[in-house]
Amino acid sequence: MISYLGNNSYQKISEIIQEYHYKKVLLITNKTSFFKSGIANYVFQTLISCQYVQFNQFSVNPKFEEVLEGLKIVQDFNPDLIIGVGGGSAMDMAKFLMYFAGAKNLTKESFLKELANPIKQDQYLPLMLIPTTSGSGSEATRFAVIYVDGIKQSLDTIRILPDFCIVDGLMAEKLPKDVTAYTAVDALSQAIESYWAVSATTESKDYALMAIKLILNSIIPVVKNPTLFYREQMALGAYYAGAAINITRTTAPHAFSYYLTTKYHIPHGQAVGLVLPYFIEPNSKVRDLSEIYKLFGVTNALELKTAFIKTLDEIGMYQKLSDILKDDLVDFIHAVNIDRLNNNPAKMNFEDFQSLFSLSS
Ligand SMILES: [Zn+2]
Repeated sequence: MISYLGNNSYQKISEIIQEYHYKKVLLITNKTSFFKSGIANYVFQTLISCQYVQFNQFSVNPKFEEVLEGLKIVQDFNPDLIIGVGGGSAMDMAKFLMYFAGAKNLTKESFLKELANPIKQDQYLPLMLIPTTSGSGSEATRFAVIYVDGIKQSLDTIRILPDFCIVDGLMAEKLPKDVTAYTAVDALSQAIESYWAVSATTESKDYALMAIKLILNSIIPVVKNPTLFYREQMALGAYYAGAAINITRTTAPHAFSYYLTTKYHIPHGQAVGLVLPYFIEPNSKVRDLSEIYKLFGVTNALELKTAFIKTLDEIGMYQKLSDILKDDLVDFIHAVNIDRLNNNPAKMNFEDFQSLFSLSS
């Protein structure tokens, strides 16, 4: 993976296309903000030397059937490069299309089989990812999410790490305030979770700390008074958070957050931000979080929890879990993704969670 980081790195797109002699580009984007936010102007000017086809006919939570539609275009157009420009959805769609580019007669069954055990496809296409939301970090991860019959499934293989990645604050220049806030909280939470994850390594911790530092320097100004400098800091922060979870995956806050998004349609970043504060104290008992305290300018877990909530509050994101969950605390706890939970350092059972989430905070 070759990454180009920093404002104006989008100009590398045309250099890459020329250097590798790409002639036919399949461009995967979201439907409206690609044009509305001016990203199209940047991207199209880099594609003048080649033919391209744009694919944007997929949902915010892409579905299997939409992957099949995209694959038809891959087969008809026969691109030599796939570029995914957007938030998690567009980048994930691009990952699926590059991975399954050579798949013949793909059915729901063979697709699910491949997700369960990603071994090989005959042909992969070169992939370039260009994030526009500074949140998911999908540009630096081996994961892609898809909905099959309404159920969230994921592809997890190093094959879908992009060949090229362009992380440019200009791409997020016009990102609305609310999206800027919740994608920033997602990135910050991913970095914190990666740091304390059971699977953390020295390398992943370095990425996580770099991410936390960049995000904390920019999260409030990038929401309240965005400049290209802060957009760049956030884009880099999200990228390093992605690089960190690419190694470790996420932990309990992500595991519990999916219920809030599925049932109450709370944006992913906000849902994670709601849950994370509960895990700071329990995880601090089994993990040394002093490096994180230092970055937040605090000295203990309780102060970190307060500082995290204060940050959410300042960018208009704080809500209490008790304001959202009606009388479904038990459902909320039972819906947890066990795999992610196993990666959480503090080991807790159902009763522990019940008392953890019953505490007012
Ligand atoms: Zn996330």
